[in-house]
Amino acid sequence: MPIRYKIAPHVVEIIESLQKAGYETYLVGGAVRDLLLGLEPKDYDLSTSATPEQIKHLFGRRKVMIIGKRFRLAHYYHGHEIIEISTFRRKPDKLVPVVTPGKKLVFHDNSFGNSYEDAFRRDFTINAIFYDPVKNQIIDHCGQGMSDLECGVVRMIGDPAERFTEDPVRILRALKLVGQYGFRISLETEKALIEKMPLIATCPHSRLSLELEKLLKKTSCDKTLKILYEYNFLSYFLPRVHFNWNKPECQEMLKLLELRNARVDNGIYRNSLSLVVAVMAFPFVYSSMDRTDGAQLWDYHPRIEKDIRHIILNLFHPHSFPKQLVFSSVSAIMLQTSLLRDSSHKRTARHPRYQHALELQEILKLTGKIKLP
Ligand code: ATP
Ligand code: MG
Repeated sequence: MPIRYKIAPHVVEIIESLQKAGYETYLVGGAVRDLLLGLEPKDYDLSTSATPEQIKHLFGRRKVMIIGKRFRLAHYYHGHEIIEISTFRRKPDKLVPVVTPGKKLVFHDNSFGNSYEDAFRRDFTINAIFYDPVKNQIIDHCGQGMSDLECGVVRMIGDPAERFTEDPVRILRALKLVGQYGFRISLETEKALIEKMPLIATCPHSRLSLELEKLLKKTSCDKTLKILYEYNFLSYFLPRVHFNWNKPECQEMLKLLELRNARVDNGIYRNSLSLVVAVMAFPFVYSSMDRTDGAQLWDYHPRIEKDIRHIILNLFHPHSFPKQLVFSSVSAIMLQTSLLRDSSHKRTARHPRYQHALELQEILKLTGKIKLP
């Protein structure tokens, strides 16, 4: 009897509905990787023979939104959760550029194909394994995905140099897998990755920022940042973090991140991107506030909000986060003073960012290095 992998019932329902409507459909990507490794998937990606329009027609416009230019896909909304449903792709016959306002050159990737062709359009062998939860069937079209997953190898499908050139974001995606699972990169893939690394500068910031958000939300983010530094990728991706890497602030940042990640893994904290941003920025805020013309973090002054925001934007340059997220992170840092002054937390507890601020303070206390006055 083959193992039955446990996936969220609503995801099985979506797959079943598509299959009943006559569309071949699978669970793909990170969720399959996690299931096979015995981990609980955090989010779900599906791949189907239905076009985005057919998906929208099947589930209705209140449930499904079509997004993307370069890569059109359907977003299925289940409460706050988004399930990405992409249509099987094949290698495009010719490269058609997407018209974008900037100078960056991006090509359409919307040539629909069958499930076999789709597997070979994916980046790494371990990312090209399909799972049909209805039939309880694993399909590894590339033939090497399962063994690579077992041995912990990140291997590009096809010619690595060609495929990194075609889409340099795959460089970051490979390194993220190393950080997340402790895998190694196959020799040929690693050689091409190092050689093609400067091409990352040609990628649109929006795509890289999206990958950054996903990276930071993972509880492996401290390990991934270390891998990005070791491969010198950080100098392209987060140049200010790279530049400060050997300074005490950065080392403090990694320590704080590690503590935060352990607490999320143990179910003590919710996974929140704004807390990660606050945690990462805190050591820099702390040291700069201590230095600048007598303005202390712990003594409110009119510029403080602007200063903290500036430090955050600077640290994550050239990426931009949604305004609301930055605002949340700034508030969590600023509230540290109120938490200290209001020892019973009576007033502070009413603040909408109280929970984040409290979590940040707990982590700060745990390190013992950053002394709260
Ligand atoms: P995560 O856990 O970060 O979501 P993931 O592998 O699921 O990891 P996604 O960005 O959700 O990453 O992409 C889903 C799948 O789509 C990948 O597993 C891969 O098969 C394919 N994919 C994503 N980006 C690319 C790319 N740039 N080139 C080729 N295939 C890609
Ligand atoms: Mg995914």
